[in-house]
Amino acid sequence: MSRKLRVLVVEDETELAAVVASYFEREGYLVETAFDGPTAVEKARSGAPDLIVLDLMLPGFDGIEVCRQVRTFSDAYILMLTARDEEVDKIVGFAVGADDYLVKPFSPRELIARTTAILRRPRGQGTGTALDSGPRPLKFGALIIDSAARVVTVGDSAVDLTRTEFDLLECMAENPKSVFSREKLLELVWGGDWYGDIHVVDVHIGHLRKKLTGAGMAEEVIRTVRGYGYGMAGQ
Ligand code: CA
Repeated sequence: MSRKLRVLVVEDETELAAVVASYFEREGYLVETAFDGPTAVEKARSGAPDLIVLDLMLPGFDGIEVCRQVRTFSDAYILMLTARDEEVDKIVGFAVGADDYLVKPFSPRELIARTTAILRRPRGQGTGTALDSGPRPLKFGALIIDSAARVVTVGDSAVDLTRTEFDLLECMAENPKSVFSREKLLELVWGGDWYGDIHVVDVHIGHLRKKLTGAGMAEEVIRTVRGYGYGMAGQ
């Protein structure tokens, strides 16, 4: 990769922010920092980072709100930082579109390993993996999935999906006759290095279904295979 990767470090503990920034600088990243929620959103917009390392508890508004706002205009990879294990539920439960999380305290090695794993996922902008000519849109009744534009519509209305929701749907839609285990979906969407509770898949599928139904999809698009995983319905 010829151009330097940009990382935005968002952390209100200024000492930790400086330490994290120095890890990334050593790895050859272009680093920007922000110490509160509003500034983080502003810098995510102006700096077009490839990766955002985002602390959960921030002044102004918290990391979840930052994530939510950033996701409306950016496909940057987001690694959330949390002070405690129990906050992880918040990140997963809110399904705000973060790619991964790391619990403090963490070692520099852990941080860099995790971000390298995230950046290897062939998703989003800045990874140099964009297709020259996109695949044709996939159709399932009123549902149309345009992988090239990363747009999902039901009838005339666009469905606002998070990156994870989109990736899950795309994964299954590309092989509509297959059934995917949760582990397989984790591997395909979150990347092979992800580990944690496999039921995170259920949370995102739940949100995805709700959004598709909310957009006017009458029939169930995704079928559940009890005790195993998911696939496209009616195939
Ligand atoms: Ca904090």
